[in-house]
Amino acid sequence: MIGLTQEEKDRRAIQRKKDKYNKTHKTINEVEYKLCSICNDWQLTDMYYKNKSNNVVGLYPYCKSCAINKAHKWAINNRESSRIMKEKYAKSDKGRERNNIAWKKRTQNGSIKEYQRFNKEKIKFYQLKRKKKKHKISEVERDRCKSYFYYSCAYCRLSEIDHFKVNNQKLHLNHVDPSSANDLSNNVPACKSCNSSKGTNSLYSWYLNKSFYRLERYDYYSNGLMKIIK
Ligand SMILES: [Zn+2]
Ligand SMILES: [Zn+2]
Repeated sequence: MIGLTQEEKDRRAIQRKKDKYNKTHKTINEVEYKLCSICNDWQLTDMYYKNKSNNVVGLYPYCKSCAINKAHKWAINNRESSRIMKEKYAKSDKGRERNNIAWKKRTQNGSIKEYQRFNKEKIKFYQLKRKKKKHKISEVERDRCKSYFYYSCAYCRLSEIDHFKVNNQKLHLNHVDPSSANDLSNNVPACKSCNSSKGTNSLYSWYLNKSFYRLERYDYYSNGLMKIIK
């Protein structure tokens, strides 16, 4: 392209973009179709994932099923990176929310029960693993932690005495941040009901929706003030 002015170069570049667009897009009966760059099929535009960094059409050049295949292939060739990314996503608020929805769906349609029936060994293994991960807290520390919270559930304030009357057991310890430390810096006393309903939810997503939510107490857990009592 020697001898062309900048203006002419720009004009040609725009034309090339337009030609490419016309080759891969067509409208039939007011319905828009797009050519997949991988499987070479003409498909409806909602069969393509959105791509924010594409400022022309806002879609990926390949269809959803090709995108899924591509992701699978990548995951097989990059096992370690894939595992790290999955873990990171599962711990994010968005990932947790989606996992919770998926879990509820599977509980309702019974596929969880079916899975449990066919994977008894696997489940035993995970339960053992979870037991080993439990709290690195001595009896003395546990007592100090409870006394700091006036022997009541840190979330709903149910007292240990009342808890014992209902559940015939002492208060549990709950990980404020489920993915963080097993020591007192990250544990508060919790009643059976709060402990199980919080589960692996982040403090933010779980506590905010509770009737007993108090902002000053939220700050209290999330600012790491628990470290004081160590
Ligand atoms: Zn395709
Ligand atoms: Zn509680």
